[in-house]
Amino acid sequence: MVEDLAKAVMEQKMHEIGYPGNQCVKLTKFYKWLLKTGLDTSIMNNAGDPYHPYPGTNTLVYERTVIDFFGSYFGFDMSNIWGIVTFCGTDGNNHGIYFGVQYLKSKSKEKPIVYVSDAAHYSNMRLADAQNLEIRLIKTNTNGEMLPEDLEKQLDPTRPVLMIYAVGTTFKGAIDNQKELNKVIEKKNPVAVYRHIDAALFGGYLPFTEYSDLVDRNKCPFDSIAVSGHKFFGMDEPAGIFITTRDVLKAQNPFHVTYLNEDMPMLNCSRSSITPLKFWWLIQHEGDAGWRKQANQLLSNAQWLYKKLKEIEYPCYMNKASNTVFFTCPPQVVVDKYHLATDYDARLGGRLAHVVVMQHVSKKKLKEFLADLILVTKNRKKMEK
Ligand SMILES: *Cc1c(COP(=O)(O)O)cnc(C)c1O
Repeated sequence: MVEDLAKAVMEQKMHEIGYPGNQCVKLTKFYKWLLKTGLDTSIMNNAGDPYHPYPGTNTLVYERTVIDFFGSYFGFDMSNIWGIVTFCGTDGNNHGIYFGVQYLKSKSKEKPIVYVSDAAHYSNMRLADAQNLEIRLIKTNTNGEMLPEDLEKQLDPTRPVLMIYAVGTTFKGAIDNQKELNKVIEKKNPVAVYRHIDAALFGGYLPFTEYSDLVDRNKCPFDSIAVSGHKFFGMDEPAGIFITTRDVLKAQNPFHVTYLNEDMPMLNCSRSSITPLKFWWLIQHEGDAGWRKQANQLLSNAQWLYKKLKEIEYPCYMNKASNTVFFTCPPQVVVDKYHLATDYDARLGGRLAHVVVMQHVSKKKLKEFLADLILVTKNRKKMEK
């Protein structure tokens, strides 16, 4: 029965500490409001450009407000900003890669090459593949950061560079060192460069912390950024934002579509009208103060977990500005109970697992996890004796 499914989800959700979903969704009042308005009996569709809205059954005006709000945190100038609310982080990366290719085409006749680290989210490789692009995977250090020396070796300056920087890799939570990598690009002086930032998780919380410079394009210049909405911000289903500049937008083919107010540079025709409203609602009710508090809580709880693991001498690792703690993979019972994600790195002794500290991952939950971890590792040691 579907009721059983709902019950199972409600039971399971608080145990999940291995994936970057925020299980503290606060949209109850939004849904009450929606029911009161009658919008639950309507079809709305944001087909069109949020910066060129037309009246009708859409929320394009609110979509623009949402993009402007987040854009200011990423250092976009309000006179040079464009973007859309996407269906997820992957959708944002797809736009980053597509817009990047079109932009680079306007600068050079040569085909671009995509450079992305081997620790970046697989969607970047998949999307570059779908767009029939040549990809060069750049090696990472044990922290998961792209190696400047390998970029230097692999970068071909005769072809345009489509750079994808990971700001928070999926497994190790590593942030590519844009300053050092940009130095390599500068030194090799390629015919043209486009930089896209994949900040699906970290792009949510970094703007509200002391590390905000890492996603500020005035500090590290980039052309576009993609962030997921359901990771940090507290959306109840997959969503995201994609933000770029008007300079990049101008290089796109608008495919003049008269019945949609002319401008359709984005990949999909239909987009959600409800998602921008939810974002807008969260901006009103959570806003800077709420997100600042949550962001710093995540980082301090992650630090606390890391410290505790060190205290019991459990092999563990954590990157700067990260809410992700990774460690030697514990026995399967622990992996299953907490739905831990696992990975493999021979340089760090083989199998690894991680905890992503989101809003619902309290110290209490982490204490429970630590107690289980200590118990099973003690038992294992006893059995080995
Ligand atoms: C989660 C994640 C993605 C994919 O985002 P979706 O919103 O799940 O499509 C892309 N990149 C990174 C770094 C991620 O962590």
